[in-house]
Amino acid sequence: MQPGKIIVGAMRFADEAAAVAAVRRAIDYGFNYVDTSPCYCYTSDEVNSERWVGKAIDHPDYRARVMISAKCATGNGGFGLGEFEGRKGFGVRTAAQFTEVFDQSRRRLGVERFDYYHLWTTHTKEQFDEAFKKGGWYDGLLSRRDQWGTLGITTHADNDTIIRFLESGKFKTVTLPLNVINRVRMRTVEYCRENGIAVIAMNPLAGGFLAADNRLKELALRYLMRLDNVHVLVGFQTVEHVEYAGWIRDTMPRYGKSAGEILAEVDSLIDAQEPRCTACGYCLPCPQDITVGACLSYYNIYHYMGLESAKKAFRDKQWEDGLRLDRCVACGQCESRCPNGLPVVSIIEKAKEALYG
Ligand code: SF4
Ligand code: SF4
Repeated sequence: MQPGKIIVGAMRFADEAAAVAAVRRAIDYGFNYVDTSPCYCYTSDEVNSERWVGKAIDHPDYRARVMISAKCATGNGGFGLGEFEGRKGFGVRTAAQFTEVFDQSRRRLGVERFDYYHLWTTHTKEQFDEAFKKGGWYDGLLSRRDQWGTLGITTHADNDTIIRFLESGKFKTVTLPLNVINRVRMRTVEYCRENGIAVIAMNPLAGGFLAADNRLKELALRYLMRLDNVHVLVGFQTVEHVEYAGWIRDTMPRYGKSAGEILAEVDSLIDAQEPRCTACGYCLPCPQDITVGACLSYYNIYHYMGLESAKKAFRDKQWEDGLRLDRCVACGQCESRCPNGLPVVSIIEKAKEALYG
C-alpha cells in the first residue's frame, strides 16, 4: 500500500467519539495513512490520540485499509534536548527508553507493527546526533526492526539542516511545515523530489488560521495537492473536515489552476501594492534563529487581509523558536540577502508592533 495524497493527522480531536468517527470516515474515503504520536490529545495513559486511533481501527475491515505511523523524539518538542517523558514520547535518549515508548505506542494503538515510524521533532544537529549516538534512539529502533516498515523524520529545521539530515540516507519520508504562505522549505521539497524521499506537509492551513477564510482554505489545500511528491497532513477534528478534504481530493482532476496560478490568486487576496515578503527563505540563516519568511507570512495575512486569527496563531506558535520575532536585533543580515530588495528590518519592526501589540 502506498500513502495517498491526504494523510490523517490525529492531533486535534476533542474526544474519543470525534476521533473514532473522523478516522473511520477518513478510511472510508480512502485516506489510508494515519499519523499519531504519544503526546497528541494526551491527558492520561487511557485518554490520548493513540488510544482513540486504536479504537477506530479495532475492526478488521478498517485495520486492513490503513497504515499507521507513530513517533518519538530525543528532544522536548522545541529546540532543546528533552528530559525523558516517556508517556508523551519526548526526551528518548537511550535504546531502553526507545523500546519502552515504542512498545507503549503499540499497546495503546493495539498494533503489532508500525507501517511508518518517525524520528520526531528533530530541529537541531544536537537532537539528531543524540538519536544516532551509540546505545541511543536509533539503536533502539534497530532492535525492533521487524516491527516497523519505513523510517521518516519530522522537523522544523532550515533547509541546509534538513538536507544534512536526509543525506544520512536513513529516511524515506520527511515531515516539515509547508503551506501556501510558508514556502521557505521548497528547496528541501526539490531535494526530496530528486532523491526519492516523500514529503509530508504539516501545517497545511498554517495552524488552522487559513481556515478562517473559506477561499484561502480551499486554495491552501489545492496548492499542496498540486505539488508532486508532497502529501498533505491534515489535522482533522470532525467528520465534516474529512468530507471537505475528500471533496478537495475528488475535484482536483477537474480543477483548472496550476500551483503558480493558485499562488497568484492567494497574492491577489492579500490586497497590497507595496512589495511584500514572499516567504522564499533566501534570507536565512539568522543569527537569532528567526525564520523571517514564516514570521512575515503571519504578518502579511494579519496586516493585509485583516485576519485576527493570524495574530493569535502567531502568538500560539511562539514555542516554535523560528517565530520568535521579538529576538530580532536588527542586524540587517536578512535584508542584505533578500532577493526582493525588501527593507526587511523596517518590515520586521512593523510586524513586531502588529503581532505583539
Ligand atoms: S535583522 Fe533580525 S531577523 Fe534579520 S537576520 Fe538580523 S536578527 Fe535575524
Ligand atoms: S524577507 Fe526577503 S528573502 Fe526573506 S523570506 Fe521574505 S522575501 Fe524571502
